[in-house]
Amino acid sequence: MAVAEETSLDPADWGEFRTLCHEMLDAALGYLETARARPVWRPVPEEVKAALAEPLPHAPQGASKVCADFRRLVLPYATGNTHPRFFGWVHGSGTPGGMLAELLAGAMNANLGGRDHGPVYVERQVVEWCRQLFGFPAEAGGLLVSGTSMATLIGLTVARNVKAGHDVRRLGLGSAAGSLVAYASSQAHSATAKALEILGLGSEALRSVPVDGGYRMDLDALARSIAEDRSSGLRPFCVVATAGTVNTGAIDDLAGIAAICRSEDLWLHVDGAFGALAILSEAHRPRLAGIEWADSLAFDFHKWLHVPYDAGCILVRRGELQRQAFSSRHEYLAGAARGLAGGDPWFCEYGPELSRGFRALKVWFTLKEHGLTKLGRKVDDNCRQAVTLAGRVRDHPRLELLAPVSLNIVCFRFTWPGATPEQLDRINREIVAELQERGIAAPSTTRLGGALAIRVNITNHRSRQTDMDTLVEALLAIGEELLSAATPAAAPVRQASV
Ligand SMILES: *Cc1c(COP(=O)(O)O)cnc(C)c1O
Repeated sequence: MAVAEETSLDPADWGEFRTLCHEMLDAALGYLETARARPVWRPVPEEVKAALAEPLPHAPQGASKVCADFRRLVLPYATGNTHPRFFGWVHGSGTPGGMLAELLAGAMNANLGGRDHGPVYVERQVVEWCRQLFGFPAEAGGLLVSGTSMATLIGLTVARNVKAGHDVRRLGLGSAAGSLVAYASSQAHSATAKALEILGLGSEALRSVPVDGGYRMDLDALARSIAEDRSSGLRPFCVVATAGTVNTGAIDDLAGIAAICRSEDLWLHVDGAFGALAILSEAHRPRLAGIEWADSLAFDFHKWLHVPYDAGCILVRRGELQRQAFSSRHEYLAGAARGLAGGDPWFCEYGPELSRGFRALKVWFTLKEHGLTKLGRKVDDNCRQAVTLAGRVRDHPRLELLAPVSLNIVCFRFTWPGATPEQLDRINREIVAELQERGIAAPSTTRLGGALAIRVNITNHRSRQTDMDTLVEALLAIGEELLSAATPAAAPVRQASV
């Protein structure tokens, strides 16, 4: 009687698998090398969506078939953020080195929850570098996470636990529910409100502080709001300052907010998702003064450092407070003085996750491969491209700048004499959709002071000054096209050159 064969999931024929892998690696490298040659984006065709909706694959299809499906059904329909004219939202563009690190991390299949192994020392070193970069004290703690949303949740969890005045982990929110309040500017990212919701404080616990003409938090308004809340018996516990707002790239007065937090005994959390990386730029570093006073700092590697998704970081000024908020090691997770169970402290004690991947490798790889100086120059390049673009917008009668350019984001619109607000919103929304659907460029939109803005965010190491020209020329041509279609009588004379 035959014994059932104990086959593993490894390839039956390693040689054949190796050939397939080399082929796919070539395809991946070719894809990155020719990023500029493709349309920025193309919609996923209905037949492709239908082909992906397969029944549960009970039988093996084999790696070679899966690779073919990937190349046909997935790879051609990317977001487009590897393209030099991807300007939507805040997306990083990734690097070939980052891709290689992902592949190598996949080979190790490390679990960074804890224990004593090489990858743990890599993540520790990445956190240590970040600590030094942002001028945090030696006792700071930190953790690599999926992104700033998770980092903010962790930072605000520590803030809540420290400031609640009782043992929240054991007793729950109790009397703190409904009385703890936090502050952020009206331009703060929704990740902050979401964190407060998850923490059981509710989004109404977030005071939306007005901003000045540069979209920075109004500190007088902040001080007044804190005083009012105290006098009505509430308990202010935290201010969330933003270094690089998502709408316009504004940087709050971090030193000013830190001073208020100190005198009011409030936790200072800084959302520096992309803007904190301006610390790498000689020119822009001074504008982040005060970031070193943050009690917690959230930022992303996958935005302005171009590390492949996903990779963010939380730094906490007093690492012990972070550990107190999350540490819970039961007997099956006990440490040991010797062997694999050593390696104290374990990363799982600094956040909600136990099993954690090796995202530190692609960060370590990126920092070492390119070095901070070059990465900082790429930050400068993007800021300069934003200034160039803003200049072209100012100079053109059909374009109107809608916000000051602080860093790398330009908000503007196409306009014409006698346009109504509704017409402006509609045509600018259509211009963005056309730019995306024609594959020329991918800006996004936002609203500023009620007006729909075309929003160009440049966190892209492949972008060049000439890409700003291509964008402006295409955008003007599409704007004139739409305008003459909508209002034939008011149609301007089309320029033959576009
Ligand atoms: C992107 C962003 C976030 C959210 O970060 P994720 O990495 O997407 O979770 C928060 N704040 C700001 C200012 C951002 O730009």
